Amino acid sequence: MGTTPQPNDPEEVLLIQRSYRNLLKSIKSNLTKEDKEMIRQAYEIAVQAHSKQRRKSGEPYILHPIEVARICTEEIGLGPTAVVAALLHDVVEDTDVSLDDIRKQFGDKICRLVDGLTKLDSSYNSENPQAENFKKVLSTLNSDVRVVLIKMADRLHNMRTLGSMKREKQLKIASETSYIYAPLAHRLGLYKLKTEFMDLCLKILEPSFYQEIARKLQETKRSRNHYINEFIKGMNEQLDELNVPYKIIGRPKSISSIADKLKTKGVPFEEIYDLFAVRIIIDVEPKKEKSACWQVYSVITDVYTPVPERLKDWVTMPKSNGYESLHTTVIGPGGRFVEVQIRSERMDEIAEKGFAAHWKYKGVKQSTQNVFDTWLDSVRMLLEDKDKDALEFISEFKTSLYGEGIYVYTPKGDMVTLPKGATALDFAFNIHSDVGYHTISIKINNKLVPMSYVLENGDQIQVNTNKNQKPNENWLKMVITSKSRTRIKQALKEANKIQADYGKEELFRKLSNSKLDFEENIDFLVKHFGFKNRFELFLAISLDQIKIDLKKFKIDGSKLSEFKEVQKVKTEEVSDELGNTYYTINPTKNKSLLLINGESADKFSFQFASCCHPLPGDDIFAFVTTANTLKIHRTSCPNSEHLLASYGYRVLKADWTNVATTAFIEELIIIGSDNGPGIIQSITENINKFGLNIKSFKIDGNEGIFEGTVKLEMQNLDQMNALIRTLKNLPYVSNVRRGN
Ligand code: MN
Repeated sequence: MGTTPQPNDPEEVLLIQRSYRNLLKSIKSNLTKEDKEMIRQAYEIAVQAHSKQRRKSGEPYILHPIEVARICTEEIGLGPTAVVAALLHDVVEDTDVSLDDIRKQFGDKICRLVDGLTKLDSSYNSENPQAENFKKVLSTLNSDVRVVLIKMADRLHNMRTLGSMKREKQLKIASETSYIYAPLAHRLGLYKLKTEFMDLCLKILEPSFYQEIARKLQETKRSRNHYINEFIKGMNEQLDELNVPYKIIGRPKSISSIADKLKTKGVPFEEIYDLFAVRIIIDVEPKKEKSACWQVYSVITDVYTPVPERLKDWVTMPKSNGYESLHTTVIGPGGRFVEVQIRSERMDEIAEKGFAAHWKYKGVKQSTQNVFDTWLDSVRMLLEDKDKDALEFISEFKTSLYGEGIYVYTPKGDMVTLPKGATALDFAFNIHSDVGYHTISIKINNKLVPMSYVLENGDQIQVNTNKNQKPNENWLKMVITSKSRTRIKQALKEANKIQADYGKEELFRKLSNSKLDFEENIDFLVKHFGFKNRFELFLAISLDQIKIDLKKFKIDGSKLSEFKEVQKVKTEEVSDELGNTYYTINPTKNKSLLLINGESADKFSFQFASCCHPLPGDDIFAFVTTANTLKIHRTSCPNSEHLLASYGYRVLKADWTNVATTAFIEELIIIGSDNGPGIIQSITENINKFGLNIKSFKIDGNEGIFEGTVKLEMQNLDQMNALIRTLKNLPYVSNVRRGN
């Protein structure tokens, strides 16, 4: 290593060398002389190329590619080629080294990998650079899946080291990760990566929620371990009799999966029974795996009573991402439900490392390989569709990550694959947009069905068209694929354009009748009526939503101007491109409520998103809409992930100011058992203790359960959280949450 150019600080030199040695140690496969030489060369080029760069944390940049290479080999199980590509993955983008240099020194294969990992340069003009770049990475999926796997390792290391980034950057990267990288990791069977992605995302997007679960897991660790040991002890003897080498692990589930359960089930932490799973890994040859797994199952269910509905057999029929395992839930000591996962060493490696491990065992189970191929085929089809812009592509790609898809047939018997949940109308648009536009009725298996009928496997579909038919707004609710949705929106836009032209003509006539110039006055009218642009004004005129009476204006020569009285049309609700509606806040009432990028929000026109109703104290960000106004979302908003991931460049930092002095109205839902006398009284008493003003209180009882909805005027988030805690502690109350 004597010729390696090195930074000046001797301690850093040692640090770099140590991490490089660590990388070499992590490579499990037997390296040839050539491999070793190539890795060393890649390392030296990378050290030199990045010698002047530092990461945000201040450490030498080169530590990043070295660590990415280590993740590739140690955590994903990739070989020396990937190690070389990973070491070089940032040099073309960030330094003077060119792709040609790499091709000359390392050959075509490595060059292709590095090219796939290099971002499109800034001369590539696009509205959505992130989406375009991601599409580029995915376009390599068919020829060499390693690009995507190295990209995953890159993302994982960046997520692990997000700490030194600015908060907005953290939010952006975390959202992008949970939007696309985590589902992709899942699809590729990289469960360990997926879990870590989700945990790291939660830690950033909802820090206090994450910490709370982590703390509770820690607090319950001892008693949980005690229980797991007792559970295992109960069946050790019987398992030993099988004469199959095995090991048992009892592990808590990941923080993010526990968080999901808390959210979807709405129960407190203490009531989640499956906080951990017990895994039995057996060491048998591939031929005997299946029968050995079932033998273990048989032993366990001799000892503990199984819950039959929870038996999942992915040993006989692996999941479409290649996952193989036999899961069951049994009733353990003390009547607790315990999930047990039974699998072989090979299955376990595949479950942990996914795709790469698959290749290692290629040929063991042909069926798994085929499911992958089918999926890769569908990705290839997506990539071939040239009409699609990058965002559309990402959104359809995401659909392909979930669900198996359904198979339906044309009247001629041709098979068509659509995502699960697709409707009859989706099918029509899938044939051709012209067929979609003119659909008047659809028959499934010779029976008429509504256009919104959700397709089932094996349906045979016949679409009837009529040239006078055209899409309307309702159609958007009847489709799920982005293809149909885009086509319908296009058609509606076209129709609006024609409609607006009538309004334009009408206005033109009116102005010229009063000897007024159109161009000179039109923008004044747009502003006067409070529209965003001319198009909206024309449309409103043509639909009779507004009446323009020129007598109500002053005329100075050839120009219109305001009389003293100004009547403006108020826009109360606006919709954006995602179909969300927003409510407008009167800015004078909320003076200096917010800081946007450190400046008082009074300067901006902003709205609170109605999808998540941010309240003072919530963790928030501002999003620049296409209309150039700002919308404030909570970082935990269900839409935020998509917004941050797809349009990260439109995100601005937003903070609350003077949280304590701004009152807001919030709804609380209180659930409990009905048999407590005076329950209403004790709830109201407790609210009064906080000195809060009750705006309304509604209560419904049903079969011994009551649900109360209280509207309160609160001062800040801390106060609300304190109240929620107090109410939760009342006898008869089982849960309290924020309503929406
Ligand atoms: Mn990188």
